[in-house]
Amino acid sequence: MINVTKPFLPPIEEYQAYIRQIWERNWLTNNGPLVNELELRLKEYLKVDHLLYLNNGTIALQIAIKALRIKGEVITTPFSYIATTSSIIWENCRPVFVDIDPETLNIDASAIPAAITAETSAIIATHTYGNPCDITSIQAIAQEHGLKVIYDAAHCFGTKYQGRSVYDFGDISTASFHATKLFHSIEGGAVFTRDGQLLKKMAYMRNFGHNGPMDFADIGINAKNSEFHAAMGILNLRYFDSIAENRRIQYERYLDWMKYLKLRTIRITPDSEFNFAYFPVIFETETALEKAMEMLNGHWIYPRRYFYPSLNTLKFVEACKTPVCDAISPRVLCLPLYHSLSVEEIDFICRLLLRAQNN
Ligand SMILES: *Cc1c(COP(=O)(O)O)cnc(C)c1O
Repeated sequence: MINVTKPFLPPIEEYQAYIRQIWERNWLTNNGPLVNELELRLKEYLKVDHLLYLNNGTIALQIAIKALRIKGEVITTPFSYIATTSSIIWENCRPVFVDIDPETLNIDASAIPAAITAETSAIIATHTYGNPCDITSIQAIAQEHGLKVIYDAAHCFGTKYQGRSVYDFGDISTASFHATKLFHSIEGGAVFTRDGQLLKKMAYMRNFGHNGPMDFADIGINAKNSEFHAAMGILNLRYFDSIAENRRIQYERYLDWMKYLKLRTIRITPDSEFNFAYFPVIFETETALEKAMEMLNGHWIYPRRYFYPSLNTLKFVEACKTPVCDAISPRVLCLPLYHSLSVEEIDFICRLLLRAQNN
């Protein structure tokens, strides 16, 4: 069976060595030495000044919204995982969906100004599939209108923009280190900011607001992650460069096949280094997508419809007009892509797509 993704696992002996250390220390969670080590290594690897390791990427979004005191309307993308929209609503804000760019499938920055009202306080955009948004334009719009910017960078481990980690942009960027993501710690996430004061605020928030055993600096929640998760993160980071290099080869193999298929993939944003996190393809029609799915499923291959349905169609949001997203979302499929997928398997998947197309 070939799934859309498969979590990387390091050699079990290496994980066992860390587990033994945890047993010896009997320190399981609450900002332990492995959590600290992972944070340090991530900062070095990504060349960023500040980050906090959290228990998932959804709480990262919620803490970011809370820490920036975002209220009222939030401009966001309809083409993302549900956590982007649900976090906005969970924090009592109203999502206002702006349409996507038909080439990158990221939020269309040029359509943002028309959606700004007196109630707008922030833009929360996703770097979809790990491919950066038009950060330069979004930054300029935010500055002009006094809006905060949060990037849902859940897919972005390893992505760069203008030579820097993409996590370094926006007031806050959030990451997910969930098992299905390119870099993972089983469950996990992070917030990134360049603002030291903001980081401190979020550090309190991560731990119930505790400032000592009996003092509370701020309202907080439990967003801590454990030593067991941090150990997985430390190990996976060691293997990340080789996983990333292999990704590029796999991605290019898929790309070679595109000339034989009536499919297109996303345009990579200029001035960025893409992390090859996903290989999305856009079919000419939804029927063509369904035929392809049927063909692949018949051979135990399970791609996923990331992201369908689009978030502006959720029962608990107000309707917005997003014709580009409405037209593209039903035609997008993410093909399998993970560390151990062979080029032969990629060829097999693409031959099946060719067969489905010619049927
Ligand atoms: C995975 C994902 C999240 C949520 O991350 P978790 O760690 O699973 O909570 C948020 N946004 C996007 C775009 C995602 O893909």
